[in-house]
Amino acid sequence: MMKFNCYIVIRVLGGISALMILFVMSGCSFFAKPLELSSEHFLFTATTQTSSMEEMQEGIKRAEELYIALTKIFPTDFQLDSIIVVKLNGNYESQGPYVDGDGTIELWRYSAAEGGYWSLFTHELVHAIAFDTSAKLGALEWASLGFYNEAWAEYVAQLIDPEKTGFPFYGFNENVVAGHWVSQGGPTLALLRTSHEELNLSCAHQSYTMRASWFRFVDETYGRHAALDIMYGGREMTSEVVEEILGDSLLIVDDAWQTWVLERYALYPGADAEAASYRGNISYYQPCQ
Ligand SMILES: [Zn+2]
Repeated sequence: MMKFNCYIVIRVLGGISALMILFVMSGCSFFAKPLELSSEHFLFTATTQTSSMEEMQEGIKRAEELYIALTKIFPTDFQLDSIIVVKLNGNYESQGPYVDGDGTIELWRYSAAEGGYWSLFTHELVHAIAFDTSAKLGALEWASLGFYNEAWAEYVAQLIDPEKTGFPFYGFNENVVAGHWVSQGGPTLALLRTSHEELNLSCAHQSYTMRASWFRFVDETYGRHAALDIMYGGREMTSEVVEEILGDSLLIVDDAWQTWVLERYALYPGADAEAASYRGNISYYQPCQ
C-alpha cells in the first residue's frame, strides 16, 4: 500500500516536472506578462520574456533622440508619423527586423557588440517615420520602391546614427566598405535596381552598403531637395523619373558615384587593412559575384 502511494506521488511529481521542462523549453512564454512603455512619439511593447522595463526605457530615450534628429532631415512641413509602435520580440534567431504592413517596427535583439535591440533600429525608424506618407502616396505598391527605400533608410541611418555598430557597416567606415565592394566587382547598382527582390537579401552585405553610399553621393551632389523628391515626390521612382529629377542619366550618376567612392577609399588612411578587418567580421558571407 505504502509502495503504491509512493508510486502515485512519483508519477504526479514526474508529470509536474515534465510540464515544467515543457514551460522552460518554450521559453516560459506561458508566464510572460505584457510590458508597455510610451513617450511623445513612441509606444514600445514587449513581454517580461522578451525585454525589461529598464531595456525599454533605454530604447525609448534613444528613439526620441533619433526622432528629433530625423525632423532635421525632413522639411518642416513634412507629415511625419506621430506615434510609432515598436515591438520587441526577443533574441535574434533567423528573422531580421522589419516594418510590418501597419507601420509597426518589429525588432529582435542582436549581440551587445552590434547594439542589442537597437542594432538595426535607426534604419527601421527611417522607414517607419514616413510610413503613413508613403502609404498615402501609394508608394508601398511601387515595384521600384524597394531599391530606393532601402538605400534611403540606410543612408539616413548613417547620417543620424554614425556610431551604430550593427548591420550593414558594423561601425566600419562607409567609404571603405562601399569602395571595397565596388573594387571587388559583383552586382552593380543597375543590377540591384532591376533585380531588387532576387538580390537584396542574398547579396545583403553588398546591396545595403553600396546603395546607402550611392544615396549619400546623390544627396551631396544633387541636393537634399532632389533626394526627397525621389523618395516622397509622389511619382513612382522609375529610372525615367529619377533621371528627370537628377538631370542626368543613371548610367552617368552610377558611374560618377563609383569614381567618387573609390576616390574616398584611396584617400582613407589604412583603407585596405580596415576593409580586411570588415571582411573578417563577416567571414560567413559569400559575396555575390
Ligand atoms: Zn530596410
